[in-house]
Amino acid sequence: MAPAAAACCHSPARIAISCSATSSSASPPGRSPLRVAVVGGGPAGASAAEALASSGARTFLLERSPAGAKPCGGAIPLCMLDEFAIPRDLVDRRVTRMRVVSPSNLAADFSRSLPPGAHIPMLRREVLDSFLRRRAAEAGAELVPGLVTSLSLPATPADPYRVHYISSSSSSGSVQGRGVLEVDAVVGADGANSRVAREVGAGEYTTAIAFQERVRLPDAAMAYYDDLAEMYVGDDVSPDFYGWVFPKCDHVAVGTGTVAAKPDIKRLQYGIRARAGGKIAGGRVVKVEAHPIPEHPRPRRVVGRVALVGDAAGYVTRCSGEGIYFAAKSGRLCGRAMAEEWARTGAVTEAGIRSGYLRRWDDEYLLMFRFLDLLQRVFYSGNAGREALVEMCADEYVQRRTFESYLYKRMVPGEPLGDLRLLWRTVGSMVRCGVIGREVERLRRLELQA
Ligand SMILES: Cc1cc2nc3c(=O)[nH]c(=O)nc-3n(C[C@H](O)[C@H](O)[C@H](O)COP(=O)(O)OP(=O)(O)OC[C@H]3O[C@@H](n4cnc5c(N)ncnc54)[C@H](O)[C@@H]3O)c2cc1C
Repeated sequence: MAPAAAACCHSPARIAISCSATSSSASPPGRSPLRVAVVGGGPAGASAAEALASSGARTFLLERSPAGAKPCGGAIPLCMLDEFAIPRDLVDRRVTRMRVVSPSNLAADFSRSLPPGAHIPMLRREVLDSFLRRRAAEAGAELVPGLVTSLSLPATPADPYRVHYISSSSSSGSVQGRGVLEVDAVVGADGANSRVAREVGAGEYTTAIAFQERVRLPDAAMAYYDDLAEMYVGDDVSPDFYGWVFPKCDHVAVGTGTVAAKPDIKRLQYGIRARAGGKIAGGRVVKVEAHPIPEHPRPRRVVGRVALVGDAAGYVTRCSGEGIYFAAKSGRLCGRAMAEEWARTGAVTEAGIRSGYLRRWDDEYLLMFRFLDLLQRVFYSGNAGREALVEMCADEYVQRRTFESYLYKRMVPGEPLGDLRLLWRTVGSMVRCGVIGREVERLRRLELQA
């Protein structure tokens, strides 16, 4: 590895960045600290940077738009508040009622089975992300506002990576311009359009497109959504996903997503607005946003001393489109794995990142992701499956297991009798809903003809 003293290597008269030294528990006395560039300051990057900096690594957290807001529904599992010590006052809404609405407008309410005190926290991403970045900075990470444009790869395992960026800061004595950082390792936490993944040839993945409007509602309408989140399923809102109305501090986020019908996203957005109907009537759209969502992990998540985390790696569950928690978890795991290897051996290696980060990640989550993948294929492939899904969501056993696995991220073993009953109900629902689904489609065709 190149010595740490060369960590900041800026072209002459371009950028002034202070390379403040940090405590170095990741580096035994006499050894230079590990230097890492974390690209992207969302939940994945901020969590990776916090883990690295608090282990003593010299950490640069590069974020192209620190004042921006990632398009996102902002729902997180309850366990994330404790696991990531997120202050309760950052939460906009505590959802205790979750309603799933079928293509034929049958609704299942998820409130009976919510454990006492449990809720789904809803946050605005600009609030969450800036909090996580600030905490990474308090742990010693240096925030670099700038757009990473390319990576120069090392010629030998001892050479550093060179991270090229365009600074967007004009504060604290820096000037806007180009800069370069020399580092021992890179964490690519730069989301679904990851530049880092492209630079190291990590391969492509399929993405969905998600579209969302922030709608400010009249007071009475907003009161209706006080602690209620709605999910709508049906071909009219998404052929392969779902539409949502999620409450935030002073608005609702109304959105939808699709892989199969990306050019139709605006029509699908009209669909979700129509389904929510009178409940969001009189609302004023204050922001429109869209962003890709990865559908599965990248072919390569670790290349040399570069590791991808969060959306850049492809950690979003297909069935629910959930990615915030997995981003933060993967960032933290990856940061810790790099710091541990450095402390143990004085180097970060591809093999070390694979065993310290990838293997542990896959052991913990691969099965959960595959299971949710399967659920999506069974239940979102047509209106019949969606009717069956909503019918099953009314079942208390299904609700309890869903909450357990969503809120606390536990794949709890089922009760044998409960599981048998569930299997029986699933088959029954699929058969019954095949008929209902076909009927809904027939009525919709008639409506279109008329
Ligand atoms: C409309 C929508 C709704 C969603 N709703 C939910 C939800 O309710 N709950 C949930 O759990 N998940 C939801 N998701 C998914 C969730 O938003 C992502 O999984 C999560 O944001 C991933 O975090 P991340 O840190 O990996 O990436 P991101 O949050 O995308 O962060 C990447 C960061 O990198 C920065 N960046 C990118 N390129 C560069 C570069 N070249 N140089 C410097 N910085 C760069 C970006 O500005 C960004 O801040 C939703 C997604 C969408 C699109």
